[in-house]
Amino acid sequence: MKLMTTLHTVERLRALFGDRLAISEPLARHTTARVGGPAELFLSVSSTEELLAAVEVAYAAGLPYFILGGGSNILVADAGISGLVILNRARKVSFRHSGAGVVCTAESGANLSALARQCISRGLGGLEWAIGVPGTVGGAVVGNAGAHGSDMDATLLAATIWEPGYGARVYNREEMAYGYRTSVLKRDLAPGRARRVVLSAELRLTPEPVDVLTARADGFTAHRKERQPGGATTGSMFKNPENFYAGYLIDTAGLKGLRIGDAVISDKHANFFVNDGQATAEDIRALVAEAWNSVRDQFGIEMELEVELVGDWAFE
Ligand SMILES: Cc1cc2nc3c(=O)[nH]c(=O)nc-3n(C[C@H](O)[C@H](O)[C@H](O)COP(=O)(O)OP(=O)(O)OC[C@H]3O[C@@H](n4cnc5c(N)ncnc54)[C@H](O)[C@@H]3O)c2cc1C
Repeated sequence: MKLMTTLHTVERLRALFGDRLAISEPLARHTTARVGGPAELFLSVSSTEELLAAVEVAYAAGLPYFILGGGSNILVADAGISGLVILNRARKVSFRHSGAGVVCTAESGANLSALARQCISRGLGGLEWAIGVPGTVGGAVVGNAGAHGSDMDATLLAATIWEPGYGARVYNREEMAYGYRTSVLKRDLAPGRARRVVLSAELRLTPEPVDVLTARADGFTAHRKERQPGGATTGSMFKNPENFYAGYLIDTAGLKGLRIGDAVISDKHANFFVNDGQATAEDIRALVAEAWNSVRDQFGIEMELEVELVGDWAFE
């Protein structure tokens, strides 16, 4: 990135967003694992219009951009992220009747779990699985988030997505090409390539009694509490390999409780890697390498990361 181009882009962003454009913002403040170095440029947006404006300025200038939702499925390098990080807080939500059901349209920065609670209180079923899944609607649409036998694939009707060099376009569910914790957008994440941006999502909901929905959600919450550790984590580190649970493999490899620096493999659930104090991203990555190598050596299984490593990692 040429210095003059960057300066010009910073001026453009300042003209649009004023002091909200920050320099060198520590990303540990914005990730659930509480690790990650600085964003070179950092901007919090609160509407889809602002999200679009920021992405379009960056794209036109050739400035790399990264959309940050809840920061709950990423491990940001200690060196941070070059270019512009856009924290998505576009949260508007609306509901409309459609045949026997209801369609919820949510901006992509809406908090997924809070949205699920809002649906329950309105007597609308379909999103209870998302209670307790941290992060935003956008992150869930990209990663096909899911729990308790359901997922985005089963809930999404359509998503409005901005495509670099083209503009906004509506994708139907089939076009998202969902698989286990993946989508057409997630498969397309090559370093250096401009990323597509989820602007909003339409979710299919069905009227159900509030007490039925509440009981279901309470059951899911209890299940989560019983099995998962609290604290600063990224959720499941690895995807479950076919016919296995990643947590079972890591546990059986004898790695529960393994610690590197302040990063530790949870005693409660071995697929959760916890920042137990002042862990660095490198501590967690070293634990990831240890788990991956041990499981491959002991069981011949090469696990795939569910969490995305982002930013300026030394090994790239
Ligand atoms: C305690 C805990 C429990 C969890 N439990 C579950 C679970 O049960 N099921 C599950 O599926 N996941 C779970 N997760 C993982 C995580 O919550 C989900 O993957 C979540 O959907 C990520 O959303 P996010 O907004 O935090 O995304 P981020 O981590 O901020 O981003 C993830 C990726 O999505 C991209 N992205 C985010 N928003 C947009 C957008 N608007 N447009 C384009 N790209 C975007 C980012 O650039 C990045 O590439 C858990 C995590 C934690 C910490």
